[in-house]
Amino acid sequence: MANGLSITSDLDKPKIFECPSCKQTIDTASSECRFCFASIDPTVAEAAAAKMARINRACSDASYLKIAALCAPAFLLILFIPFMTLMGEIGIIFLEVAVPVWIALWCFRFLRIQSDDPDFRRAKKTVLIVGVAWAIVVGFRIL
Ligand SMILES: [Zn+2]
Repeated sequence: MANGLSITSDLDKPKIFECPSCKQTIDTASSECRFCFASIDPTVAEAAAAKMARINRACSDASYLKIAALCAPAFLLILFIPFMTLMGEIGIIFLEVAVPVWIALWCFRFLRIQSDDPDFRRAKKTVLIVGVAWAIVVGFRIL
């Protein structure tokens, strides 16, 4: 889906990736690693750079999701402020719908990425925690 949207110009192309031998972040344009001098296959480099860009995107999306989920307690507090109840209600209803949609989209886009990148693992955990927290909050509201 994301590939269909992006008009690939050289400016958009991810240009950094992790050296397969020393794990330093290097440029796809170089023919050898500037740290360990291992030779770089440009095809491999571009694939690795594209993967790294997707992982970075997955991490930032997960942190936006976390921020949105952290707004829920704020909306709950607003419920107790006179004349602001409606705003709090709208905010909570919006999050009730938006959070699961967001989680589903995130999983659809990023869950298949095979990586043991610690940031990516943290992002997966964040999405899981937000999902569980959402289920608990919505469960309580239904009861
Ligand atoms: Zn290297």
